[in-house]
Amino acid sequence: MVHDTKNIMVILSSPSGVGKTTLTKKIQQKYNTFSISVSHTTRKPRPNEVDGVDYFFTSETNFKKLINNGKFYEYARIFGNYYGTCKDNVDRLIKTKDILFDIDWQGTKQLSKFKNLDLIKIYLVAPNREELKNRLIKRNQDSKDEVDKRYSSFESDVMHWNDYDYIIINENLDHCFRQIEKIILDYKKKSLSLN
Ligand code: 5GP
Repeated sequence: MVHDTKNIMVILSSPSGVGKTTLTKKIQQKYNTFSISVSHTTRKPRPNEVDGVDYFFTSETNFKKLINNGKFYEYARIFGNYYGTCKDNVDRLIKTKDILFDIDWQGTKQLSKFKNLDLIKIYLVAPNREELKNRLIKRNQDSKDEVDKRYSSFESDVMHWNDYDYIIINENLDHCFRQIEKIILDYKKKSLSLN
């Protein structure tokens, strides 16, 4: 991966339902230097999701073709569907923008192998399991089966927290946002002063 700009890449990972998507959108709204990396997925769109905005929704056949043609920087199978980050999108964005990745621990491991990247890896956790379950149900975006799948992946997901630079407990969305904001701004300041 070529990365010779001053722009940075921020990964936000978490077990499903911790508030990551809301937070990435909030960062992008406040800082127009940031763009969210739109992933490809074979998952079916939720009612509120827009193709090309939330994800590029695609068939499994097409996704596998993209894998075979080496089009992804990383991809993973999660909850029975494929998710991946396309090289072309990242290479185009990073020329002019900082990038936010909303990807899981498997994707984070794969991106971490590119040693030349200016990458900040942040892991978000819910304060406790009860809260996580409540949020998944309240979010009301998935069927009971999907909620159960996401809830039961919690344990295997948090096992990977130590692959990250920062761990943040999302007890309060605004507080969590300010913590992420500070990490990013401090990092940007540091990397600018080094250049
Ligand atoms: P959801 O189906 O709830 O939108 O996402 C399920 C999980 O897939 C989330 O943890 C999300 O971060 C992860 N995810 C979304 N896009 C990608 C991607 O491109 N690569 C990887 N590795 N994970 C992704």
